[in-house]
Amino acid sequence: MPANTVAISQTPSSRLPQVNWDDLPFGLIPGDHMAEATYQDGQWHSPEIKPFQNLQISPFALVFHYGQAVFEGLKAFRQEGGDIVVFRPSKNFERINKSLHRMAMPELPQEVFMDSLTTLLELDRGWVPRKEGYSLYIRPLVFATENRLGVKISSDYKFFILTSPVGPYYPKPLRVRVETKYVRAAIGGVGYAKCAGNYGAAFYPAQLAREAGYDQVMWTDSKENRFIEESGTMNIFFVTGNKLVTPPLSSSILAGVTRDSIIHLAPDLDLEIEERRISVEELEEGLGSGKIKEAFGAGTAAVVAPIETIGIGDKDYDLKVGDGTHQDRIKAHLTNIRLGRTPDKYGWNEIVIPAIK
Ligand SMILES: *Cc1c(COP(=O)(O)O)cnc(C)c1O
Repeated sequence: MPANTVAISQTPSSRLPQVNWDDLPFGLIPGDHMAEATYQDGQWHSPEIKPFQNLQISPFALVFHYGQAVFEGLKAFRQEGGDIVVFRPSKNFERINKSLHRMAMPELPQEVFMDSLTTLLELDRGWVPRKEGYSLYIRPLVFATENRLGVKISSDYKFFILTSPVGPYYPKPLRVRVETKYVRAAIGGVGYAKCAGNYGAAFYPAQLAREAGYDQVMWTDSKENRFIEESGTMNIFFVTGNKLVTPPLSSSILAGVTRDSIIHLAPDLDLEIEERRISVEELEEGLGSGKIKEAFGAGTAAVVAPIETIGIGDKDYDLKVGDGTHQDRIKAHLTNIRLGRTPDKYGWNEIVIPAIK
């Protein structure tokens, strides 16, 4: 099914002229169009592009009761010449299928995902911001739509791709607290899946951390509350000397595309990578002695989120942020690849929509 078979119904009145490009609160403004596909009678049907609109959905829909819902997050960038590129969408395609599989939901065919994404961006290319640090956030999602109250695997689903022009995610460096009471995910659970319930379950501990003066929690493992896993909804990196240390992937850690990209490009910046477990004791010792100089979160929304303070028990440890940090070099390198200023030697800018000349 080539991209030109995605049916398009175009909005009669674009909302583009109303957008204030200097004030883009994260994820509040929808693009003009959305992609939609339906799973029914045991198969995914052809996607359509429609004007962004509200849904008609029964309160009996299984998603509201038993939570079969998964999502993705990726970004499109406008390069200096005007071309629009999407950063590593095939990784998001692979990951949404892993999430779907774990949630007993039907996997998406590649052409349903990629062709609807390409067609949507061709139509809404004007929604990709021009300003540095800004991008078009892309949110694919799938949820259960069979209408019944009985507990079962849904037989029907909807797939959507939504977009929203966005600016920088966090206005300032983060204060993060090591969480040793609540857990985000357990081995054998759904932590590696981007399923909606993981986020709902994380809100309460995050709220407690905020009440204590932090922005986010740093999760530890579910068995011993001893090994660092992630921070909020980002993967985590620590910097010691010219080494980046990050916890290894497991079924309780989300395999971030940003994490994977940083691991690949670290050697370009003469940084070594160590994927290994880091205990809270080691972290506290490293922060106390000054051996751990920087820490940052990595994720699509924030890209690289500097951490300026880590709270462990009742002690706060400060870290280096800002000018001259390795995290700044990493962020700049990633930005340069996306914007076409540095050769894309890894082939990460996958969908390229040429500038209108
Ligand atoms: C989405 C997400 C990440 C980051 O993944 P990216 O692909 O880099 O955006 C990390 N941890 C959690 C829990 C996430 O949901």
